Amino acid sequence: MGAGFVPKSRTVAVRIRVAHLYPDYLNIYADRGNIAVLARRAGWRGHDLDVTALSIRDSFRPGDHDLFYVGGGQDREQALVAADLAAKSELLREAVDRGAAVLAVCGGYQLLGRSYRDRDGRELAGVGLLPLTTVAGERRMIGDVLLECAWAGRTLAGFENHAGRTILDDGAEPLGRVVSGFGNDGASGFEGCRVGRAIGTYLHGPLLPRNPWFADWVLAQALAHAGGGEPPELAPLPDDLERDAHEVAARRARERGGRF
Ligand code: GLN
Repeated sequence: MGAGFVPKSRTVAVRIRVAHLYPDYLNIYADRGNIAVLARRAGWRGHDLDVTALSIRDSFRPGDHDLFYVGGGQDREQALVAADLAAKSELLREAVDRGAAVLAVCGGYQLLGRSYRDRDGRELAGVGLLPLTTVAGERRMIGDVLLECAWAGRTLAGFENHAGRTILDDGAEPLGRVVSGFGNDGASGFEGCRVGRAIGTYLHGPLLPRNPWFADWVLAQALAHAGGGEPPELAPLPDDLERDAHEVAARRARERGGRF
C-alpha cells in the first residue's frame, strides 16, 4: 500500500497494548517486521500500538496486554530464555484465559508448547499454552510455504527454517494445512497451532507483510481484548502491494513443491 494512504475512520481510537517477549534474544528473520505491520495497520485505522519489551526478569500482570508476540531464535537463544519464559507460564496462561491474543513464531512457537528437545538433546520446558511438543531432527526444513487455512477460508504464505519437528496433540487444531512446504514436521501436513486467540507458527520472513488478512485478524483479536467485546470489523485497506507480495511468495512456494 502507498505510504501516503489515509483512510477515513469513524472508530474510537484504542491503545492496543502489545508485549514483545524477548526482542533482544528472539529476533531472527526480521520478525520485528511483524510488529511494524501491526503498528501501521492499527494506525491506519486510527488506533495506537503501544509495544512493551518484556525480557529476562521483567514481570507483568495478566490483563496488562492485549497481545503477546514472540519471535524466532536459534537453539542457543531459546536455551537462554527458556527458564525465564517457563517461570512466566502461569501469568501467560492467565492472560490468555482472560482473552489476550498471542502470536508466536518459530523458536517462540516451540517454547509455547510443552517442551522442546534441541539438537544437543537438551530438554527445554515450555509454557504449555499450546498442545504440542517439539524435537529437533537432523535435516533442517527450509523454504517458502503455502498454507490453506480452512477456518478463515484464506491462504497464508511464508518462509520456514527449522530443525524442530512439532507434533500436535490429537485433536489439536493446526493454523493451516500445508499446500507446499514442510510445516510442523514434514509429514503430518499440518502447520502451526491455533487455540482460540493464541497462534503459533513456523512462518516468518516476516509473516504479516504478505498476509494482510491475517495481520488484521490478529489486530481484531487484540482489539477485542482491549474493548472487552467481539473482534471488530476493521475498515478495509487497499492492500495492492500486500496482495502482490502474497502472490509472489505463494508462487515460489508452489514451484518449490512438496515435502521430504
Ligand atoms: N531452533 C529452532 C529450530 O531450528 C527454531 C529456529 C527458528 O526460530 N528459526 O527448530
